[in-house]
Amino acid sequence: MPKLERYLRAVSVAFSVICATTHTPVSAQTVREAIERETTAVEVKMIAWRRDIHEHPELGNREFRTSALVAEHLKALGYDVREKVAHTGVVAVLKGGKPGPVIALRADMDALPVTELVDLPFASKVRAMWRGQEVGVMHACGHDAHTAILMAAAEVFAKLRNDLPGTVKLIFQPAEEGVPPDEEGGARLMIKEGALENPRPEVIFGLHVVSIGRVGTVAYRAGTAQSGSDTFHISVKGRGTHGARPWAGVDPIVIASQIVLGLQTIESRQVDVTNEPSVLTVGIFNAGNRSNIIPDTAELEGTLRTFDPQMRDFIMRRVKETAQAIALSGGGEAEVEWTSDGYIPLVNNVPLTRRMVPTLQRVAGSDKVLEVKAVTAAEDFSYFAQEVPGFFFWVGISAPTMLASLAAPNHSPRFRIDEAGLPTALRAMVNVAFDYLNGDAK
Ligand SMILES: [Zn+2]
Ligand SMILES: [Zn+2]
Repeated sequence: MPKLERYLRAVSVAFSVICATTHTPVSAQTVREAIERETTAVEVKMIAWRRDIHEHPELGNREFRTSALVAEHLKALGYDVREKVAHTGVVAVLKGGKPGPVIALRADMDALPVTELVDLPFASKVRAMWRGQEVGVMHACGHDAHTAILMAAAEVFAKLRNDLPGTVKLIFQPAEEGVPPDEEGGARLMIKEGALENPRPEVIFGLHVVSIGRVGTVAYRAGTAQSGSDTFHISVKGRGTHGARPWAGVDPIVIASQIVLGLQTIESRQVDVTNEPSVLTVGIFNAGNRSNIIPDTAELEGTLRTFDPQMRDFIMRRVKETAQAIALSGGGEAEVEWTSDGYIPLVNNVPLTRRMVPTLQRVAGSDKVLEVKAVTAAEDFSYFAQEVPGFFFWVGISAPTMLASLAAPNHSPRFRIDEAGLPTALRAMVNVAFDYLNGDAK
């Protein structure tokens, strides 16, 4: 009898192994088919949300309407929703029907002080106050698409909740583009207010739509993918006088003009360009209010993009020394201030990136997934990726008929999203999440 028992047990173990090995791939395939079905089903809604959000853009820390729309949608889907994180942020958790890890997905919701010049039925006509000036407001960086994509992904996770092996945490973030003066916000404030706690995700994913990619393409970079950014303000003090008698005063406009050029020689003559790239741009030059008056002061503001901390320190020091020395040579003074609203470089976790690339290739097609150079745009997803391993990738949204290099870039008043790129973004996001949770993208 014991012999027979042993035999039966062996047969039963063998049978269960056979069942498991034949069953697992079929089940994975079924889930993938269900993902495909549900992503297709939600596409029309995703486009409608994107257009609605595009027509009603809101500046950083003022995303009241957008976050209400997001929170209402997530509550209706059965998510556990926390609102007003970092002012207008929404953090939502959905526990799947199967055991598994916790992952986070993040979308940003804010728009930019840009007056839209795109001819669309849902173009923005919104105006708002920004740093004391009335400005047009536009989703010129595509955060309307990011929000709509994650809302659509939320719906797919909820529909497939029983098959979800783990927990998804969705982070809808305000103020990625920066905050109004004297306010805190963005990823750093969300982290401070516990967006990554209870539960803490073991990884985080995010994406950005980019004009430099064509519809259907996905791009990524393992390791440092986006630069850090720092903002400086230079106040040049001269001495006002009549425009006809410049020698009777000190002209801050001429001094500030020399400073603008002097700062570029730091980049072109003083940093080792073979080490890492860096970019310095003066984007604001304010002075004077009449053609025949030399004013007392001129104000400059600019941004520095770096990938290397030592290079960053060096350039920051040289900006100060250069501005002060040039001002002194003209008989004036320069005060240089680096503000604290800069972002650290965005570093994609290398093993996580390598692990998820096959998913992107399966979703978009291997010939449509490219590893590209690092970019000099900054992104505060970097702070999430500093806390837990992160992977942030780029999705193309330029029309196939257009040379992507000629498409109006993100932040331009002519920035235009070809919505045919959004289903790829949605599939990428949902499949990255499922594959990670399933552990089958290793
Ligand atoms: Zn942007
Ligand atoms: Zn952006």
